[in-house]
Amino acid sequence: MGWVLGACGQTPISADGEPAAHAERRFEFERVLMGVPFRIVAYGADEEAVARAARAAFARVKELNLVFSDYDPDSELRRLQAEAPRQPKKISADLARVLLLSRRLWEQSGGAFDPSVAPLVALWRNARRSGALPAPEQLAAARARRGFGDLLLDAEQETVAFRRADLAIDLGAIAKGYAADEALAVLRAHGFPRALVDGGGDLSLGDPPPGEQGWRVAVEALDDPERAAAELLLANAAVATSGDAWQHVEIDGVRYAHIVDPETGLGLRERFSVTVVAPTGALADGLATALCVLGPARGRSLVAQHPGVEAWITTLENGAPRTLHCTDKVPGTFSVQ
Ligand code: AMP
Ligand code: MG
Repeated sequence: MGWVLGACGQTPISADGEPAAHAERRFEFERVLMGVPFRIVAYGADEEAVARAARAAFARVKELNLVFSDYDPDSELRRLQAEAPRQPKKISADLARVLLLSRRLWEQSGGAFDPSVAPLVALWRNARRSGALPAPEQLAAARARRGFGDLLLDAEQETVAFRRADLAIDLGAIAKGYAADEALAVLRAHGFPRALVDGGGDLSLGDPPPGEQGWRVAVEALDDPERAAAELLLANAAVATSGDAWQHVEIDGVRYAHIVDPETGLGLRERFSVTVVAPTGALADGLATALCVLGPARGRSLVAQHPGVEAWITTLENGAPRTLHCTDKVPGTFSVQ
């Protein structure tokens, strides 16, 4: 989604022109998980071993879907919301980690990143199906349910308590990046660090392909999918893209994105695209969504709070794309060209 990937994919050739005996080859696998195509690219010498590792990585994503899914009433998150425990309740380590990062982003973004917009997101999903705007009273009721601070998280004990029963949480802005990180960790643990996981546009990148300095990632321009707005060469880093290009609804000539401004309760109306490079996929994913809401002016200070993060925030001004590139990159954290 929004990415053109050009990782070098030739079979390595030895000095005498014959394929090297134990040369690593490029393998690619794809499976639809978390509602998007999850893709794995990995280099290895033994096809069967790489395939086994890829199966294990996909299994990990499937497991995480059972934690985070907003669609599956049996997911850990949905069951937790149905119960809305008043007293601290033990949760999985995965949910605790993602909630902790979400809370940080909520605080750092001044509430622009807010998983408790879940009821508003549900209204905008319906609007996409029906083609009609949510009724004002529906919007008001959903807005009144915001407030991520009402989820009391103890990250050390891995417990949560709900301060009110109608609190709903949607981790769609961050879970795919986390899942891509975890899938990459499985590939590494199986001995395949030269790997990439693409969770529907959220990329977690391991060591570079053999003989390369990094994975080549091209960022699509907002006005023209054929044109690259930036070309990156990355290893041991993550890239996420967020924007209105893929999911939006047009009602009475106004375009509303699937990302909601918690303040207004409305889907974002400007054309925008945000690309974030960060040390982890979860952070890149969460920040990309947060920056969509904040926009270039307010987004800059959020990026500045994250050493090692680089972001491109593109908006359309009078039909012409304008990109703000912000970075507080620690030299040597990863390479970007
Ligand atoms: P992404 O594609 O990563 O930008 O995530 C978009 C998804 O995040 C939406 O489909 C919603 O599920 C959720 N979402 C929408 N608005 C917000 C927001 N302001 N803060 C956190 N999550 C949001
Ligand atoms: Mg996101």
